[in-house]
Amino acid sequence: MTTMNLAPNRRISLACGDTTWTEDHTATTFRQIAHALDTGDMFAETVQGDQRTDRQRWASAVHFAVRLAGRSEELLAFRDRCGSHGTGCSCGMVDPGGIGSVLCDYAQAPEDPVAAPGHAMGLTLRRPWASMLMVPTEAGGKNVENRTDTTTYRGPVLIYAGARLDQAGVELGRRQGLQCMDFHAAQQGWLGAAVLVDVHRARGCCAPWGNTRKTQQLYHWVFESPVRLARRPWRGGARGFVGLQQVSWSALINPKVYRGA
Ligand SMILES: [Zn+2]
Ligand SMILES: [Zn+2]
Repeated sequence: MTTMNLAPNRRISLACGDTTWTEDHTATTFRQIAHALDTGDMFAETVQGDQRTDRQRWASAVHFAVRLAGRSEELLAFRDRCGSHGTGCSCGMVDPGGIGSVLCDYAQAPEDPVAAPGHAMGLTLRRPWASMLMVPTEAGGKNVENRTDTTTYRGPVLIYAGARLDQAGVELGRRQGLQCMDFHAAQQGWLGAAVLVDVHRARGCCAPWGNTRKTQQLYHWVFESPVRLARRPWRGGARGFVGLQQVSWSALINPKVYRGA
């Protein structure tokens, strides 16, 4: 595994002059940033063209997006040099759900990442379920979301914790031995991202997090590779939304970064 040290003294150099980046360009830019974030070894095997699976690619994008979201200096330099991305650029087609789509959204940095959607998908969940989904499965986290709707989408999903609290979630979390349920219950707003890898009809499967109802068809949305933001970006007046929705990766960035505050 990779080390998780931040390297605040190492500047990320971003080579960017084109309005879009080719696959090569993305890989180069990505390697530079990954190196500066000390995540080069983790990503080395995932940028080798055809050898990477979609799940690896998506997990890398999630990890990368969350790490870079905390680096304001690099984000500002990046936006100044690569700000010509936007409506009409082909990044989303070149690298759907991948690093290129993250970089494209970060280069534009819209004020409202929901009203001005980019290349990511977002989902609002009630508290504490949203925060429990950000805990890795190995640490007892929740990896299955019970929903009445289904989707064919697979890939990264940014997780928004809504205003509503489901007390049943707090109780189930405690019964399953999850620590710090008060913390999970309090988490609101954009929390991070995970990868949606499967959606199937509930048939008594996916214990302990999956539900099955006799009266209503439920679907199990299965997530993996969650990465939580160290600091939640707070947007005044931000609200949740219904269903899986297209948003900008820049939802993960604190808006203060771009206001120079
Ligand atoms: Zn672009
Ligand atoms: Zn299931």
